[in-house]
Amino acid sequence: PGAHDDIAALIRTIPDHPKPGILFRDVTTLLLDPRGLAMVTARLAGLVPAGIDLIAGIEARGFIFGAALAHHLGKGLVLIRKDGKLPGATIGIDYALEYGTDRIEMHEDACVPGQTVLLVDDLIATGGTAQAAVRLLRQAGARVAGAAFVVDLPDLGGAEALRADGVPVTSLVGFP
Ligand code: 5GP
Repeated sequence: PGAHDDIAALIRTIPDHPKPGILFRDVTTLLLDPRGLAMVTARLAGLVPAGIDLIAGIEARGFIFGAALAHHLGKGLVLIRKDGKLPGATIGIDYALEYGTDRIEMHEDACVPGQTVLLVDDLIATGGTAQAAVRLLRQAGARVAGAAFVVDLPDLGGAEALRADGVPVTSLVGFP
């Protein structure tokens, strides 16, 4: 089996989390495997566009894969965090959830305007989180050269929406 099958096989599916009817794709089993993070990092590194200055990871699982990729590539890492977690001066953005809103923030000086950033998260579903992160990075003056995910749920349309925002999207595993 190829790397795609190896990675997909290490992701556990938990029905009815966080609520009935949702099939949660659980990457903790992938992370438990001694080769899991290395396989993902090597595969993601092969998809990184040329000329990236920084990796941006989305809290919390995007930190794990984003940090591993930043280390592998020898690049800096920007943390995109939930509301109120970052100690320095921040910029933030509110975005819609199915019920209510959420907020993500980054340090206002985390990137120099004009720097090229690759966004990383574990999974893209509706794309709401990643779209908000792209808006935030653009607000900070970054050029978002791409977004990379371990898992895409293509039926939920997030990757398509992100591409419509002008962001090239790559992923390692697709679950229908
Ligand atoms: P979206 O904003 O694209 O609808 O949801 C993606 C965000 O929610 C990501 O930050 C991701 O970590 C989390 N998420 C949503 N569904 C799942 C899932 O099935 N598995 C995992 N691991 N994360 C999920």
